[in-house]
Formats: sequence, C-alpha cells, structure tokens
Amino acid sequence: MTQRIDVGILGATGVVGQQFVALLADHPWFRVTWLAASERSAGHRYGDLAWRLPSRLPAATADLRVSPLSAVADAPSILFSGLDSSVAGEAELTFAASGRHVVSNARNHRMDPLVPLLIPEVNPDHLSLLDYQRRAKGWSGSLVTNPNCATIVVAMVLGALRQFQPRRVMVTTLQALSGAGYPGVASLDAVGNIIPYIGGGEEEKIETESLKLLGRFEGGAIRDADFVVSAQTTRVPVPDGHTAMMSIELAAKPSVEEVSAALDAFTAEPQQRLLPSAPAKPIVLHTAQDRPQPRLDVAFGGGMPVHCGRVRRCPILGYKLVAMGHNVVRGAAGAALLNAELMVARGLTVGAEHGAALTTPRR
Ligand code: NAP
Repeated sequence: MTQRIDVGILGATGVVGQQFVALLADHPWFRVTWLAASERSAGHRYGDLAWRLPSRLPAATADLRVSPLSAVADAPSILFSGLDSSVAGEAELTFAASGRHVVSNARNHRMDPLVPLLIPEVNPDHLSLLDYQRRAKGWSGSLVTNPNCATIVVAMVLGALRQFQPRRVMVTTLQALSGAGYPGVASLDAVGNIIPYIGGGEEEKIETESLKLLGRFEGGAIRDADFVVSAQTTRVPVPDGHTAMMSIELAAKPSVEEVSAALDAFTAEPQQRLLPSAPAKPIVLHTAQDRPQPRLDVAFGGGMPVHCGRVRRCPILGYKLVAMGHNVVRGAAGAALLNAELMVARGLTVGAEHGAALTTPRR
C-alpha cells in the first residue's frame, strides 16, 4: 500500500483512546490525523495532556490538537471510538450518519440488531449486516462494535469450541483495574482486595453478547446462539488482563484432548488474510499447570492472543479451563483495530480500493 488511510479517535484521552494511539503509531495501513475528547481536553495539544502508557507518545500525534465532538465535519472517514458510554450513544450515531465508519468499543450500540458485534476470528460473516444497516438507517457511513473486554475472552474460547456445540457455560471473571478506565477504582478499594461486583451490567454483557457473537447471520439478521451463559464478575488488583474461569457443557462430548486440540488449532479469516493486528495464533494454549497468568502472559503477541490453560474435566458441566486476555488491547483498542482492518480488507470502508494489497503482518 502506498498511501495510509487517515483515521481519527473519539475519546482519544482515555485508557482505550491512548491504547489506540499507541497501537496506531506504526500501523502499515492507518495514520492518526484527528483526535476528539470532551470539552475538558478540547483545544489542547495532545502531547500536553497526561500520557499514561509506558510506550512513547508518537511525535506526529503529540502535535495534534484535540477537537470537541461537535467538530464532525473535520473528522476523517474511519473513526475509532473509546468514548465514555455516557456520550458514545448519540455521538457515534451522529458520526455514522455523517458518512464516517465508526468502529466502537462502547457498549451503547452492541445489542442493536442492525449493528455488527464483531470478533473477526469468531463471526466475520456478521459484517454482512452492514448492507442492511445502511439501508435501514440511510447512512453512507457505518457503525461496528467490539464486545465487552471480558466477553471477548469467553467468546474466543466458545468460538474455537463451536464445533462441539456449547450448551451451558458458567464463568467467573477476575478483571483488571484498567478495565474501569482512568482513574478507575480508588486505590484503597483495590489494593489487597477483591470486589465481587462490576457495575454497568458487566455480567449481563457476558451473558447476552456471547449469544449474539456466536449467533447465525440469516436473512438479514443475527439469530442468537442457543446456549446459555451464567457469569459472575470480580475486580482484582491486577493492572491489565482479564481472567475467566470457565466450565462448559459441550453436546458433542469430545475428549479433553480434543478440546485442547481445537483451542490450539483455532485459526480464522484474520490469520488467513494476514491482517496487521492479527495474532499468529488467536488462542495460545498453555500446558503448564500454573498458566496463564496476567503478569507473565498478557503482553505476549502485543496483547492480541487469548490465553488458555488448565483444560480438564469438570464433574458438573464436563469441561473446565482458565482463559485470559489483555482487556485494553484484545478487549478494546486492538479488537477495534482488527475489526477495522477486516472491514478495509473486505472493501467495506474508504480505502477499500487498497484491500487486496493490504497484507503486511506486524507480528
Ligand atoms: P476513560 O479512560 O474514562 O476514557 C473516556 C474517554 O471519553 C476520554 O477520552 C474522555 O475525554 C471521553 N469523554 C468523557 N466524557 C465525555 C464527554 N462528555 N464528551 C466527549 N468525550 C467525553 O474510559 P476507557 O476505559 O478508555 O473506556 C472508553 C470506552 O471503552 C467506554 O465506553 C468503555 O466502556 C469501553 N471499554 C473499555 C475497556 C477497558 O478495558 N478500559 C474495554 C472495553 C471497552 P476527557 O479525557 O476529555 O474527559
């Protein structure tokens, strides 16, 4: 590709927004040219605001001035959204209606029947919904979402095991502090503690989004998958990396070895297309009994794979395992980036004319 595609970031100053900036720093297809956040940040040079990631802020992005959300006319055609959910709902609709392709992290539109809730490895066919979305809403732009940061860990596992027909799933999560945004949970609540509740309907998101993600695209709509998920979510004093302890009932009753083999062999369209942010293996299977661990595994592969380990028999549901993924990368900014890459490669955005040539792997 000779010319990179201009992209913007809505909510560029938040935990997810900064991760977008970091992931897009050397992106072979995309170039950040526009940033937006609240009135508190608007008008400031981005480099003069607090930068909270260990990586260096790219100089070209540091020099950009933050726009308010009202500056719709200045926005480039592809927009990544890390907006707080209190404003994402209306703002994302406005940008999509104005012809922009909005690739969002926010929860507001995930369950809209006309909005793809996408994991490129699990349900790339759901992008076909965009034809119906554009027709129904009268947009030239589009709106695509990625799942909740814990849901994506659960859904990647279920996607890899889909052939065995999941029936019932029990999941307990141990979720990292960065999942609460900045400044997030007060340190006196978090340190040395486990909080057995995450607000914002976290458990319901895992229970409902998983069914849409593994649902079938039929006749212009998504039909939910017919299994059931029960989730309990906790906040733990881990910086990055959501862990999910899962028990799964599988109708096909494979052996434990077959379950492990399916997780290990899982591969999909992003890997076949060599999308720049696609991990070589979407699921990294660990055999050591004490893995995966957030501290040791979360950064592997740039944070894009989901890690699985301790695959074994469950006396109640048949199978149990531990899964873990980087909530801000695979669960947020990296997820949206991979969604946008798939959209470009499939010719669903501006820059589509470059689709066939876009095959530069980054990791
Ligand atoms: P955050 O750190 O609180 O950042 C929120 C962003 O929204 C900031 O850029 C903020 O701008 C902007 N914002 C807030 N109020 C605004 C307003 N009235 N008008 C315009 N912009 C406004 O939150 P986060 O953790 O990055 O999460 C961002 C979104 O991604 C949320 O919808 C969240 O649910 C979702 N998400 C987060 C994670 C995660 O692991 N953190 C994972 C998946 C999805 P200012 O800095 O100017 O206030």
